[in-house]
Amino acid sequence: MEITHIEHIGIAVKSIEEQLPYYEETLGLKCYNIETVEDQKVKTAFFMVGQTKIELLEPTSEESTIAKYIERRGEGVHHIAYATKNLSKALKHMEEKGVRLIDNEPRKGAEGLNIAFLHPKSTGSVLTELCEHPE
Ligand code: ZN
Repeated sequence: MEITHIEHIGIAVKSIEEQLPYYEETLGLKCYNIETVEDQKVKTAFFMVGQTKIELLEPTSEESTIAKYIERRGEGVHHIAYATKNLSKALKHMEEKGVRLIDNEPRKGAEGLNIAFLHPKSTGSVLTELCEHPE
């Protein structure tokens, strides 16, 4: 498997609107996209930092895993996402290495990426996402 870079870092927030001034005015980053991912019940906001994005995740429903995460652990870093070349192959590799998968097959994430999550029990408690840019 080949990881090329950190695609993004996901940060759980209660309100994107409330956090925007910090990212835009204080850090001087530009929010280039705000998008709702219906099946994950989250609203996402993206900032580019070199090759890597910061992805803010705001729950759109109390059923959202992000809502549950904030309830348990508060706002903060939620996951790290690595960009990889062949996601299906990477998932097979992970499985062979005994890593527990949350997604056995790639699925569609924000920005049209193919994504899959690995279970934090197998990744040193870091919720880890693998992403692949569709060809
Ligand atoms: Zn992500």
